[in-house]
Amino acid sequence: MKYYSTNKISPAVSFEDAVVRGLAPDKGLYFPEKIGTLPKGLIGHNNSIHEIAFEVAKLFVDGEIDNQRLQTIVEETLAFPTPIVNVEKDVFSLELWHGPTCAFKDVGARFLARCLSYFVQRKERKVTILVATSGDTGSAVANGFLGVEGIDVVILYPKGKVSKIQEQQLTTIGHNIAALEVEGTFDDCQKMVKLAFNDESLTNAMNLSSANSINVARFLPQSFYYFSAYEQLEDKNKPVAFSVPSGNFGNLTAGMFASRMGLPVEKFIAATNVNDVIPEYLKTGVYRARPSIPTISNAMDIGDPSNFVRILELHKGNLASIQNEMVGYAYTDEETAAGVKYIMDTTGYLSEPHGAIGYLALKEYMKTSNCQGIFLETAHPAKFGEVVEPILNAPVAIPERLQDYLSRKKEAVLIAPEYEALKSYLLNR
Ligand SMILES: *Cc1c(COP(=O)(O)O)cnc(C)c1O
Repeated sequence: MKYYSTNKISPAVSFEDAVVRGLAPDKGLYFPEKIGTLPKGLIGHNNSIHEIAFEVAKLFVDGEIDNQRLQTIVEETLAFPTPIVNVEKDVFSLELWHGPTCAFKDVGARFLARCLSYFVQRKERKVTILVATSGDTGSAVANGFLGVEGIDVVILYPKGKVSKIQEQQLTTIGHNIAALEVEGTFDDCQKMVKLAFNDESLTNAMNLSSANSINVARFLPQSFYYFSAYEQLEDKNKPVAFSVPSGNFGNLTAGMFASRMGLPVEKFIAATNVNDVIPEYLKTGVYRARPSIPTISNAMDIGDPSNFVRILELHKGNLASIQNEMVGYAYTDEETAAGVKYIMDTTGYLSEPHGAIGYLALKEYMKTSNCQGIFLETAHPAKFGEVVEPILNAPVAIPERLQDYLSRKKEAVLIAPEYEALKSYLLNR
């Protein structure tokens, strides 16, 4: 099966080429020519998540990785649980932070690293992964690619705009992982990366690839845990809504793909902070990209969500069809903080700003529907301890795997938020 570019100028390519390239030459995002459906009886019958994920992956890899290897890749990707926790009646938290860097991005990063490693080793080529991060992507990618032969990773992150733990996770790994501290915003970082991919003089000099959720191998495996969540629900008859704390909308789009493959979903809920480009679009029909505003849910501080074009593509650009599949709600920092406190006070459940926004949006939606709802808890609360502790006026225990990073020495190269600075770094390493 081929992957075409959403800009429809560049030719369609194999899964391998889509993964190795990341972004299409015409700046479009790769999109599968068709989305297959899962075998009947697979969903809702207590099959293991590894079994379901393998069938999901097969639909997208379409034979380009042999089945045995793909099975291994899936098992290594989901080497940790993705449990749902019953927070209150009909409300569940899908905890996606049980992986090595304590955020959902571990799933996509681990799958991508293993696919890319497979393709690179067969051709004996060398690839440089270029990735912009608002926090969690960088650490998940760094961890996923650490020590992977033939692949160097260069991470760009906005100075002073990621949490202490996040920065430590990005900058203390070393080996084949380098961190660039950019004196600008996440949008600057993302723009610089995009310019690099479209600079022929650079792409002729090196094989550049992307680990942002524009890469199909990072974004597609995120559909695995929507199935996992559904399998864990006791009541399979009551309709299910998923509330997804969103920034670049890779996670939510992966859910829409899961739904196309056969997962029964009543509604997707786009839960954002004040960077509410999509909730606004759903209301007005006007997509208004703008500079991002810093918030306490900083992994969602995105002013021009990159996966929006995939949502458009899924719906052939039809606004009414998009509005039928998803709703959107946005929250200020004050509301978010109050949400973290409210969840703790009323249910005893410890959340963090991103998950709390997911919860708030879910509850808002549930006023209009008699469904059960799952909100994605996208990171461990300790990753946002600086925010959560003052809200709850209580310490948040740091898991051992995070504690480890705090004692290590930061190594990062400070650069200006300009493409030329990035290019010169890449060419002169
Ligand atoms: C990346 C991230 C998000 C946003 O995910 P998208 O796929 O970019 O919408 C939400 N929460 C956390 C904790 C994240 O790291």
